[in-house]
Amino acid sequence: MRNNNQEIPPLLAQALDATEDLIYVMRVEPGRFVYHFLNEAASKFSGVTSRDLGKSFLEVYAQQPEMAQYLHNKYNRVLAHGESMRFEDGYLLPNGLLSGESIISPVRNKDKVITHLICITRDYTERNQYQEKLRYYAYHDELTQLFNRRFLSEYVLEEGILYLLDIDNFKNINDMLGHDNGDTLLIEVTDRIKKIFSTEEIICRMGGDEFLIISGNPSDKPERIAERVLRIMDKVFLLKGREVKITASLGVSRVSTEIELSNALRHAAIALHHAKSLGRSRYHIFDTSLQYEQIIRFNLELELNNCVEKQELQLLYQPIYSVKQQQVITVEALLRWNKNHTQMVSPAEFIPVAEETRLIIPIGEWVIRQACRDLPQLQQKYGQSIRVAINISRVQLDEPDFIERLNQIAREEGIPAHYIDLEITESVATSNTVEEQSSLVKLREQGYTISLDDFGTGYSSLSMLTRLPIDTIKIDRSFVTQMNPPVLKALIMMAEALSLNVVAEGIEDQEQCQHLLELGYTEFQGYWFSHPVAAAQLPELSSFPYAPRGPGQ
Ligand code: C2E
Ligand code: CA
Ligand code: CA
Repeated sequence: MRNNNQEIPPLLAQALDATEDLIYVMRVEPGRFVYHFLNEAASKFSGVTSRDLGKSFLEVYAQQPEMAQYLHNKYNRVLAHGESMRFEDGYLLPNGLLSGESIISPVRNKDKVITHLICITRDYTERNQYQEKLRYYAYHDELTQLFNRRFLSEYVLEEGILYLLDIDNFKNINDMLGHDNGDTLLIEVTDRIKKIFSTEEIICRMGGDEFLIISGNPSDKPERIAERVLRIMDKVFLLKGREVKITASLGVSRVSTEIELSNALRHAAIALHHAKSLGRSRYHIFDTSLQYEQIIRFNLELELNNCVEKQELQLLYQPIYSVKQQQVITVEALLRWNKNHTQMVSPAEFIPVAEETRLIIPIGEWVIRQACRDLPQLQQKYGQSIRVAINISRVQLDEPDFIERLNQIAREEGIPAHYIDLEITESVATSNTVEEQSSLVKLREQGYTISLDDFGTGYSSLSMLTRLPIDTIKIDRSFVTQMNPPVLKALIMMAEALSLNVVAEGIEDQEQCQHLLELGYTEFQGYWFSHPVAAAQLPELSSFPYAPRGPGQ
């Protein structure tokens, strides 16, 4: 205890000694400050001992006059100011030590005269360590102590090679052996990766079971390294005495002055998926000359999987206008996928994928239900007799219980069948399978109407129309664009002979509309009338002709 008088009771002095902050009490004497008390931490930091009590800065720091002057000035400022002063951290003391963040306060006697100054300094080194720790956790993965994704986002690399590693079927391991064992496995995998790469290479855990290794050496032979990684992963892991075998896949890509890190990362991900699609437990080096269509499709598939639950689907509506009736007669529902609520994907892009993966079945059911729910709003705009047209894919139609499900949804939503028009494409309608033909017949018996969509784009012969159980043909937009009057005239005459309704699709301007009217067409759909828009945004279209609409969505 460096206490040269009885003013500081022993317990208090003991307590001050126990604190980690540095505490100095200086007595104010004319023209100088003398050490009155300092706690252990302060003594350790400054080297000032109890023998120095009663001495001034100048006496204690006789060998370091700059230091003495620095301290004297600091205390003198507080004395002149008469109030507590805070000194920010980061002072390099003249003796080379760093001063911490300190606060110096005046102590007054009963006559309000400043008799002492007390300085409390928070140890700077410890604080530094703490900040360092925080920094560490912000950029490291807690489980494996590897760098994390955030680190990567701030990392700059001019040239190098990326290895993206993913454990095949890690989910199964987690499910079968539990998360604890899954975690242990990830730690073991980390150790094995570290064996192959040097400390110069950066290893990140990208989340889950995905690891990224960044090599700053562009002259590495990635094939050799990738093979070594796969080989080392192939060896048995011991998890709680149990032997577990895993395989991993690797995607490799290059970072260069032309390909920055974020793009290279995308390339590595594509290469990884490619490796997986080739049968896992292999590596693939991204090759700019390859198209990787199936990968892009694969990704789309993965994301499409959850679109219904994630409420990413939306229906837009486009009216079909009848010049004869001077009103909208049907409104077609057109599906949109708002991927991650940020990116609109065109149905032309995702419906083929949804069909192939059969995801079109739940998606299609969502469309039917939503269209039924929106119908009252459409009827409020265009009149009670209007109907909603729903596009139905062949995959849906082939489901044995399609009609049952359709009926059920319509019933649940309170929409009678005759308010629903089903648009099917030519290929479905002209199919020779008896089932498909008969399901169309059944649908019509239930009260639904059938439109043959995109008419003219398939391979059917016109004579087939005579055998098809349909109500309407929708002439494909390409006929309207080409505007070949003899063909268009023949089409409408034949349709009339067969008592079929005809809708011309893709009317983009008044001129096209005029031509078609002259040829005998009376039902139209297209941007000139309205773009596909949300139900609430549909235009009135109460008379004809009217001004062209502005672009919608
Ligand atoms: P579709 O049934 O032939 O639908 C008409 C397409 O033409 C729509 O494209 C529509 O936006 C576009 N269109 C309408 N008027 C014009 C025009 O004046 N000019 C031009 N250039 N285009 C016009 P969208 O919405 O991109 O849909 C594409 C296709 O995706 C649809 O072709 C349909 O086959 C399919 N589809 C859309 N929604 C669904 C759905 O809910 N289920 C199924 N199975 N297929 C759907
Ligand atoms: Ca359609
Ligand atoms: Ca069409």
